Amino acid sequence: MAGIPGTVWFVGAGPGDPDLITVKGRSLLEQAGAILFAGSLVDRTATQYAPADCEIRDSRDMTLEAMSAWLLDACARHHTVVRLQTGDPGLYGALVEMTRPLDAAGITWQVVPGVSSAMASAAAAGETLTLPEVTQTVILTRVAGRTPMPPDEDLAALAAHRTTLCIFLSITLLHEVQRALRAAGWPEEAPIVVVQKASWPGAEKIVRGTLADIKRRCQDEKIASQAMIIASPALGARHWPDIARSKLYDPGFGHRFRKASAPATEAGLPTGESA
Ligand code: SAH
Repeated sequence: MAGIPGTVWFVGAGPGDPDLITVKGRSLLEQAGAILFAGSLVDRTATQYAPADCEIRDSRDMTLEAMSAWLLDACARHHTVVRLQTGDPGLYGALVEMTRPLDAAGITWQVVPGVSSAMASAAAAGETLTLPEVTQTVILTRVAGRTPMPPDEDLAALAAHRTTLCIFLSITLLHEVQRALRAAGWPEEAPIVVVQKASWPGAEKIVRGTLADIKRRCQDEKIASQAMIIASPALGARHWPDIARSKLYDPGFGHRFRKASAPATEAGLPTGESA
């Protein structure tokens, strides 16, 4: 490949289960000359599709500068270079920090999205993140750790919306999460689910609790890393006696792909409008 620099692909490996990578991500691994994988959160088995002579490096002990240098060096020698990241590369993935040196060096890069741990955690717990007339909004956020939060993104302010909150990188700061939700007026019995290692074969743990007791329950289960906190008024909806119907599947609600087959069960949207 001398003279023609390769492309760097930022590939979302998914949340843990090696089967949850996209078909496109997997086919890039099959063609890769070099793979730099985030070993602190991506299991090495995720690189199982790589060719036998592929250069594979775990980045867990590398600085950002060292990673950039490795990627630049690799694309001088290989047509396809993969930076394999956990979940989706666009969420807490230092994507821009890594792409800027590539831009500066004139290297082409692209991103292949991945299944985020927020989605995998909801799936593991059998929960929906949105529910008609309950919550139609999902906030993906975190509390301040060593990375400060921008001034208007304090969790208490976000929680005031009473929507679904998927809280990353905060399991050791559960007391902060509790403080923020209380400050926003969430009741002590508000349900919260914590999922550790969602989708990791044999390692997944699901802890259900309330605002009052979720910290103690997580301590009892020794959950202190790689966990998603989901606080949502829609949690547990599968056990509720009654829920509002989704307009999209209501027999009385016609739309572009299906004519209404019965009178609307309640005032619906005009035909053709999004549900
Ligand atoms: N880009 C990733 C997030 C990286 S930040 C994504 O889209 O999922 C790392 C944080 O993600 C962890 O602190 C934890 O909050 C969450 N996380 C990553 N993998 C997880 C998993 N399998 N189960 C639960 N939470 C996970």
